[in-house]
Amino acid sequence: MDEQVGNQVMDQIEARQVGLALEAEGPEQVLAWALEKFGDRLAICSSFQVESCALIDMAWRIDRSVRVFTIDTGRLPDETHDLVERMRERYGLAIEIFMPEHQVVQKMVSELGTNLFYRDTNLRLLCCQVRKVLPLKRALVNYDAWVTGLRRDQSATRSEVRKLEIDDLHGGIVKLNPLADWTEREVWDYVRRHDVPYNALYDRGYRSIGCAPCTRAVPEGAGARSGRWWWETGALKECGMHCAVESGGFQRQLSELLGVNGHNVQPPDDAVHSLEQLTELLGINGRISKGS
Ligand code: SF4
Repeated sequence: MDEQVGNQVMDQIEARQVGLALEAEGPEQVLAWALEKFGDRLAICSSFQVESCALIDMAWRIDRSVRVFTIDTGRLPDETHDLVERMRERYGLAIEIFMPEHQVVQKMVSELGTNLFYRDTNLRLLCCQVRKVLPLKRALVNYDAWVTGLRRDQSATRSEVRKLEIDDLHGGIVKLNPLADWTEREVWDYVRRHDVPYNALYDRGYRSIGCAPCTRAVPEGAGARSGRWWWETGALKECGMHCAVESGGFQRQLSELLGVNGHNVQPPDDAVHSLEQLTELLGINGRISKGS
């Protein structure tokens, strides 16, 4: 018997078969299939970067009741909040907003400082866990399937993203990446053609937009994600919300970076703490996933 996954909405055989078929389809076809299959148990996870704005527009044209949620980390730029409001007005969507647990944030910044992420990669990963990854886990409990704006050419860690994946990090629900094979240019062509609202920071040299203190504009010709956590050298340009679920590639690299799971790679000498020590300090042990 084939292994059942998540909320048993799709078993492994079906996921493989459907995934193969969807690889040949465009984003609108992938979204149409997903909306039909999952209905209101599907949501677009939007960080309000240009990719997810395009996806919201596409999905809204198919089904005006499409669900959208976002993670408000508490450190987003004003321009992103402005865009959320413009998207609400344009599409009439009730965008669900998930936030980090305030007690955990309060403890983290009290113990480690508001801008802890500049001091150490482990502290940066911890902040991303607290402000992004844990709220995402809470959000996804509500759904059987989620849609992201991941594209294969965004970075090496995303090069194997598939249009349909089983998301083992989130209970085996279905993860859809309809733009997996699109280029940045194709996304912008769509956005301009349909006059989709986008973040004002793109007009100021930004090419990937996350939290305000961790994102900056990039010079012409630089990698799109080089403006994210720009002070770090050698660390992955990832926060932990996404990974190559089926290959386990990102999980393995993150584990190595943190020196966990039997690997001997230790944090640098000037590292303040390991992720385990930090999570213990914050009292969130057992509620944090090393690999996510
Ligand atoms: Fe914290 Fe920066 Fe990660 Fe945002 S991007 S959660 S501010 S470390």
